[in-house]
Amino acid sequence: MKDANCIFCKIIAGEIPGEPVYQDDAVVAIRDINPQAPVHLLILPRTHLASLAAATPEDMPLVCRLVQVAWLLAAKEKVAQRGYRVVINSGPEGDQVVPHLHVHLLGGRHLSGRIG
Ligand code: 5GP
Ligand code: ZN
Repeated sequence: MKDANCIFCKIIAGEIPGEPVYQDDAVVAIRDINPQAPVHLLILPRTHLASLAAATPEDMPLVCRLVQVAWLLAAKEKVAQRGYRVVINSGPEGDQVVPHLHVHLLGGRHLSGRIG
């Protein structure tokens, strides 16, 4: 459930600082340490899951829950009307750096550079 070497597991466990902006029984959200936009949150499952690619069909309700929290926090952070971006990087070519599944919520500026 918890990976002893995982930085996000350590933040979730309170072993290193990472002041949550949201938490419930399954999800924790923190501000990105190196924000790419005025609002840049990371939405993390409490359980360690290396990536979206590593998820199983049984994990999909949890993935939906992460997106639900992104939707909730976009409204709370007052970027819902202006627009925002929700991103999951997965694996080496997806440029995933931290191997604990997370959703990025980015907003508060025009996000140039269309992907997809
Ligand atoms: P990835 O490229 O894996 O999708 O994104 C990892 C994100 O985690 C990056 O945006 C990076 O700035 C952020 N990050 C890495 N280490 C820490 C940390 O210790 N605390 C916080 N709050 N964010 C982190
Ligand atoms: Zn982890």
